[in-house]
Amino acid sequence: MISYQIVEHGRPLQKVLGETPQPRGAEVLVRITRSGVCHSDLHIWDGYFDLGGGKRFYVKDSGCVPPFTPGHEPFGVIEKVGPRAKGVKVGQKKLVYPWIGCGKCAVCKAGQDNHCVSGSRYLGVNRPGAYSTHVLVSDAKYLLDTNGIDDAFAATLACSALTAYSAAKKLPAGGAKDEVAVLGCGGLGLIAISVLRAQGVRNIVACDVDDAKLAAAAKLGAKRTLNTRTPDAAQKLQGLAGALDFVGAPATAALGIGGLRKGGRYVICGLYGGELVHPLPPIAQRAIGIIGSYVGSLAELKAVVALAKKGRLKRAPVDTRPADAANTALEDLKGGRVVGRVVLDFETVDA
Ligand SMILES: [Zn+2]
Ligand SMILES: [Zn+2]
Repeated sequence: MISYQIVEHGRPLQKVLGETPQPRGAEVLVRITRSGVCHSDLHIWDGYFDLGGGKRFYVKDSGCVPPFTPGHEPFGVIEKVGPRAKGVKVGQKKLVYPWIGCGKCAVCKAGQDNHCVSGSRYLGVNRPGAYSTHVLVSDAKYLLDTNGIDDAFAATLACSALTAYSAAKKLPAGGAKDEVAVLGCGGLGLIAISVLRAQGVRNIVACDVDDAKLAAAAKLGAKRTLNTRTPDAAQKLQGLAGALDFVGAPATAALGIGGLRKGGRYVICGLYGGELVHPLPPIAQRAIGIIGSYVGSLAELKAVVALAKKGRLKRAPVDTRPADAANTALEDLKGGRVVGRVVLDFETVDA
């Protein structure tokens, strides 16, 4: 198989020829055809997350040690199945749920693999991921049928749409006039607008520093847009029932939390970095919620796929590029030059 690997953090990915793994037991080998490029791949590429105050969390401490294959939006065709793999056949097209837990802890047993407390096996995070012609999946239950959904868009459901969906579910039950802010209109923020619309949220305010991304947000159904570089941005963002932060920087946290009305909720998904310093009494007095959201569960991905199959998820822009362009894709994402999602086409790779 051919993989695009981090050989050294911060250096260009290398195209590496390796041994194709053989599925054993309940495992399934998927030949990747489409692989989404996520903003969090940039942190994995860099090798750390910024914890603020000069502190860092190094990804090697959670099992991501070079040489490492990133990529956690895998879509492909089943190439081989282990002797105990159930309910799947060679040749079937599948979306892979990448947030695989240990399968044994109480949290995993409750269906929350994405919150596994004893040994997560997240593809592209601490297990070989989807920037590769092949991915080994531990069990067929993590494979989803996406018939009727375009392959490249289907790939993006595994992280971007799933993360947006799970975050949106953490908002308080809203009234018709409630306003919800989407902070950051990159790949996640844009699909979040589609997800919120599908859930009946009408008053969405899309926030970003880039007018091209705000224009894409308006097309997807944001009721108003706000360039947060405008000096009175904070005044224009008041009375929110909820804020979904897909950036996760001190500036967006300040806007999101500061804009909440009483009883509102701020949900943070973005991993840009920094730290939060906030006075404590108003959190109680204003009864606001501050909650984190990390990707989503398998059941939530099934719900997202069902929404997409019904055509209720308006498609955010997807830019499909040959797999060989993986490095340029990461550079473009880092430079803020991508509107929507880049998806790598692995059918262009001879393996
Ligand atoms: Zn992601
Ligand atoms: Zn677990």
